[in-house]
Amino acid sequence: MKIPVQEIIHHLGEAQNIIITAHKNPDGDALGSTLGLYHALQNAGKNCTVVLPDGFPSFIAWMPSADKILLFDSMKEKVVEQFKKADLVFCLDYNSLDRTGELSAVIQDCPAPRILIDHHPFPSDEFNVLYSDTFPSSTSEMVVEMLLAVQWGQMIDEKSATCLYTGIVTDTGSFRFSCTSSRTHEIAGQLIQRGAANAHIHDLLFDTQSESRLKLLGYALSEKMIVNHALKTAYIVLTQAELKRFHYRKGDTEGMVNYGLAIQGIKVAAIFVEHEELIKISLRSKGKVPVNELSRNYFSGGGHTNAAGGKWEGDLESLLKKWNEVLPPFINEHGEK
Ligand code: 5GP
Ligand code: MN
Repeated sequence: MKIPVQEIIHHLGEAQNIIITAHKNPDGDALGSTLGLYHALQNAGKNCTVVLPDGFPSFIAWMPSADKILLFDSMKEKVVEQFKKADLVFCLDYNSLDRTGELSAVIQDCPAPRILIDHHPFPSDEFNVLYSDTFPSSTSEMVVEMLLAVQWGQMIDEKSATCLYTGIVTDTGSFRFSCTSSRTHEIAGQLIQRGAANAHIHDLLFDTQSESRLKLLGYALSEKMIVNHALKTAYIVLTQAELKRFHYRKGDTEGMVNYGLAIQGIKVAAIFVEHEELIKISLRSKGKVPVNELSRNYFSGGGHTNAAGGKWEGDLESLLKKWNEVLPPFINEHGEK
């Protein structure tokens, strides 16, 4: 999709107090794209606030100005005050307001125009300006494209470049997933030129894990991974008790789902993590196996063809029953692609 340049320039020209939002359970791209845009807009003289529905894991919390983010779940009044002043709202890395949980009511009540920048399919009609495209690797990549298109490339300073580069690295699995294009590399190159310290960023992201997180990973892979070659599927189930045993902290299971795909012949990988209120589901696939469709149809979620998420409000037993029921016909239909 083409970038709605004139509309964005028009809104950016008029706005002084800008709020930048992303989805619940913010990941590296949600945090990187919002903070990357935040720094660029601050450099352009705008008054900006990043508002997220809830907290983010520690492996991305080092991003510049992450400490200035307002979290709706713990700072409701402050967030509502900010929205009263807002004259423009950016909606990053989500395709419909319900992905922001309870924050969606506040966004909905705010009369300021909403600009969507997002790489998920099927954007809703809740936005005034739409820059929605499933081709770019990440929303962070799209934020760079947008800033270049409105001639604000020079607003990307070292801090902005650091956040945007981090968003690209996390959403592309360090430039290895098929969403990575030559343009992704070009943009990453530009961000390095603008000050993103690539080796240091990889270090901060991947080599700062806690011992218990690494042990939880080892346990999940050796004791909890069920591999079904006939169904080209591998999945991991982690219970509340197991999370407690390994001193689980938010983000500890991030990326674990990908390991199943490292097994030859496996096309679909899943992880089911039993949290207090619900079971969080992550799905990954290779090729043209649309796990977002599987998640939309059965697990109250969505996402991309090769990376989707969802949730289950019953117990693990009922979830696995559903999984074993829906997977064979799904693999039958899509597994050869
Ligand atoms: P993850 O497995 O890392 O939580 O999410 C993978 C992808 O699926 C992300 O791009 C995310 O936007 C999407 N996703 C995760 N959870 C949900 C959900 O509950 N609903 C929808 N629609 N998408 C989700
Ligand atoms: Mn993303």
